[in-house]
Amino acid sequence: MAEDGLAAALRARIEGEVVVAGDPGYDRLRSVFNARIDRRPLAIARCASREDVVAALAAGAERGLPVAVRGGGTSDLATLDAGLVVDVGPLDRVAIDPEAATVRVGGGATWRELDAAAQEHGLAVTGARVPRLGVAGVALAGGSGWLERALGPTCASVVGAEVVLAGGGRTARAGDEDPDLLWALRGGGGGLGVVTELELRLHPLDPTLLSGFLGFPRERALEVGGAFRDLLEHGPDELGGALMLGAGIGGACSAVVAFAGSVANGEEAVAPLRALGPSIDAVAPNEYTALQHLFDVRNPHGSRVHLRGGYLRELPDEALERVIAAANRPAAALSHLLLQPLGGALERLDPDAMALRIPDAPWAYRCFGLWPPVESLDRGAIDWVDGIAAALEPYALATSDPGFLAPRPDPYRSATGGADERATRLESIRQRCDPEGTLRPDPPAIHARAPR
Ligand SMILES: Cc1cc2nc3c(=O)[nH]c(=O)nc-3n(C[C@H](O)[C@H](O)[C@H](O)COP(=O)(O)OP(=O)(O)OC[C@H]3O[C@@H](n4cnc5c(N)ncnc54)[C@H](O)[C@@H]3O)c2cc1C
Repeated sequence: MAEDGLAAALRARIEGEVVVAGDPGYDRLRSVFNARIDRRPLAIARCASREDVVAALAAGAERGLPVAVRGGGTSDLATLDAGLVVDVGPLDRVAIDPEAATVRVGGGATWRELDAAAQEHGLAVTGARVPRLGVAGVALAGGSGWLERALGPTCASVVGAEVVLAGGGRTARAGDEDPDLLWALRGGGGGLGVVTELELRLHPLDPTLLSGFLGFPRERALEVGGAFRDLLEHGPDELGGALMLGAGIGGACSAVVAFAGSVANGEEAVAPLRALGPSIDAVAPNEYTALQHLFDVRNPHGSRVHLRGGYLRELPDEALERVIAAANRPAAALSHLLLQPLGGALERLDPDAMALRIPDAPWAYRCFGLWPPVESLDRGAIDWVDGIAAALEPYALATSDPGFLAPRPDPYRSATGGADERATRLESIRQRCDPEGTLRPDPPAIHARAPR
């Protein structure tokens, strides 16, 4: 059998811990953020060095096993049945070069570590809104965060990487040595190899920025949504944020804002929202690292999850009316919708510099169905999310949001299933890095749906 001797071989060859069924920690390490995913790997190799990754991939390849890479463990792809999990979590070092304004992070470092270390030097890069997410996993998926209208997506700041390719036999250096791989790592999805180190460019960001949220009674959602849209569609690039609607008629209605510039300019930029007279004004000069934790409580690890997202070609009042009506339907309290403004630096990206493609659209939506781990709640919670997606369907582009669910190996397949030039280039790089497709385990069936 494929698994024969796997654990023994791994234990003989790697320094990090090897965890198999029955070991303490197996259930924790085989699980991911989404409790709907229940997969049982043959072994989990907790890699503590590049050499560990090389040895683990080799042990898997000798047995012809599929491999899942686990970074922050947020996506549904970080675990698998009948295969090997290469867990890079222990590779969590963060080394800032303040002179060069760059950071080198291990393949398992999270945003919590990067944000805190960079801010000590007044530096930052667009990071995910939930700090426990992995830096590499987010960069591979594109990377969206509060600073994106000022600094672009995370992947635009990736300048190099060390990548152990499938089978463990080769290590590639994305950057000057391998510009194609660098292009692919910038938002091209998984299945390219195991990133053991990632280098990112950092940008000046004052540790205190005007940020937080303005809370309004839910019955004012249309008025607030319209004002938020009008402000963000014409606001300065430094102004980022999202309109957040919690599930149900009594759910939150908040305008989240973050101003990546001076506090005084930020005050001026958010004045039109404040003029609406919010019932909660929690916008103040806050530390960026505190802002990054704003959504922690809304995203507890171990929830059951259903996610939908997409890009919107416009956000007229009628779209707001439809989506507010859909959001007003009851669902588990943690479920929420984010309407996120694009534009700013996101529309000035060099399309040839990265695999990521952000379509020409003013808005994105990301709908998070999150509910306690009780299966009988699934139907209502899933319906809530699908109801939001249906309400926004008339305004949505056919292009999907590739990285939201996970860095899928085929993010640029077109709606018709055909491949465009970018998908073809990505596929040929993937073929070079992982010809056997070892690092492309099948996504869990719960998210399978017909292409739009
Ligand atoms: C609740 C929630 C909130 C989210 N919020 C945001 C957000 O604010 N912004 C945003 O941009 N995205 C967000 N996402 C999507 C998120 O970016 C992706 O799920 C991302 O892939 C997570 O990376 P991870 O390392 O945490 O997860 P993992 O599941 O560990 O990794 C996901 C996949 O990334 C790849 N990967 C990870 N690390 C490595 C590595 N070192 N080498 C090679 N491949 C690797 C692997 O293919 C792996 O299977 C969110 C997702 C959820 C569920």
